[in-house]
Amino acid sequence: MKTIGLIGGMSWESTMDYYRILNQTVKEALGGFHSAQCLLYSVDFHDIEACQEAGDWERSGDILADAARRLERGGADLIVLCTNTMHKVADKIQGAVNIPFLHIAEVTAEALLGQNVVKAALLGTKYTMEQDFYKERLQARGIQVMIPGPEDRGLINHVIFNELCLGKTEKKSREAFLRIIDSLQAQGAQGIILGCTEIGMLVKPQDTPAALFDTTEIHARKAALIAIE
Ligand code: GLU
Repeated sequence: MKTIGLIGGMSWESTMDYYRILNQTVKEALGGFHSAQCLLYSVDFHDIEACQEAGDWERSGDILADAARRLERGGADLIVLCTNTMHKVADKIQGAVNIPFLHIAEVTAEALLGQNVVKAALLGTKYTMEQDFYKERLQARGIQVMIPGPEDRGLINHVIFNELCLGKTEKKSREAFLRIIDSLQAQGAQGIILGCTEIGMLVKPQDTPAALFDTTEIHARKAALIAIE
């Protein structure tokens, strides 16, 4: 089995989900006492969030590239960055190591196309929704990407940083997310990308008839399947 190198802590709430999904996937596939062989380098999210807020992607890229090097030295066979937003600096991380980097938007594009979804709505942090680094990966695969309007983007970003990343799930916020999902569906979205690794803590498949694409689930499952290939 390959050793998965996780760069986590962004936030640690969703890194726990990665760990659980990796192990569940390996157990489902191999049975018995099998579990995922992995290394976790968990950063201090305080520092990363401060860089995001300041627009200092250079510095956050250095921190995460350093984490990737440490994982490689520790014996990791592939790198999994447990956040959508920080894929903004994916090239820098990938360039720092000689092992493969499993890009979250690439595996999400595969999952969408696997379900014939060519028009999808993207929910995530303001960075993920508003900047191009994430959307362009999907668009390059022929997927049309919709994002919520400015007010709803503000609400989603607020809930991510002020509730979900702090481990809080509020009923009011779930209702707001479901309203936004309904309206995106009504505007033609065939699938809804939960493009922030904490959104799956708030919105579950049973909450809505919409086709949800939970990036945490997709990314961690794919990493586990690659590890046992
Ligand atoms: N985990 C989140 C994401 O998937 C947000 C936290 C961060 O800014 O890294 O984008």
